[in-house]
Amino acid sequence: MIRVLLVEDDRDLRATLRDALALEGYEVSTAASLSEGLALWAHARPAPDLVLLDLGLPDGDGETLLATLRRRDATPVLVISARQADGQKIRLLDAGADDYLVKPFSIAELLARLRVALRRRGTATRPAQTRYEAGGLVVDLSAHRVSLAGDAVHLTPTEFKLLARLVRSAGQVVTHRQLLADVWGDEFTEHTHYLRLYMGQLRAKLEADPADPRLLLTEPGVGYRLLD
Ligand code: CA
Repeated sequence: MIRVLLVEDDRDLRATLRDALALEGYEVSTAASLSEGLALWAHARPAPDLVLLDLGLPDGDGETLLATLRRRDATPVLVISARQADGQKIRLLDAGADDYLVKPFSIAELLARLRVALRRRGTATRPAQTRYEAGGLVVDLSAHRVSLAGDAVHLTPTEFKLLARLVRSAGQVVTHRQLLADVWGDEFTEHTHYLRLYMGQLRAKLEADPADPRLLLTEPGVGYRLLD
């Protein structure tokens, strides 16, 4: 049984999400405030496998819980919030949130993101994902091979590095800052034009229609997500 801690002060949304998750077989505990969320997380035995976290809570900001939790362990955290300022999304993702859903969102979307976050946690102790397959694209990181509809695709070393970084987080949004730091280095985190250039090159080589990408998705103002 996978245990989900849901921290949400909106009573109707809390009930809707609890019921939907229970229907999918998750064991759900709910908290309506920051203090209740912190208490449940600290005392729940066994600990929750995943936290669904609202930000605007009556007694404080959900971000406080994320910070507390990250100091202790790596439990996946999905932020659910009506706030959609890009700066805030980026800050939360960089602070260790696994993903960010802007309200209103569909239950299907929530369940999909939740599965990705849980799968990542499950594979954390095994070797990182080294093979990716979707929409005719096959990436084999260990063999350093990329093919599209069976034909080998030649990538430059930097293009390959960027694609490999996205493959390792397939299904999850990776912020501009994370991509720049991991592919180019810490001193390049402000060089977002590098990313635009190299994503354009990757899309030209890997997407059927580079102007309408289906695999290498843009999260506007935040980063990129490789379709899972
Ligand atoms: Ca709220």
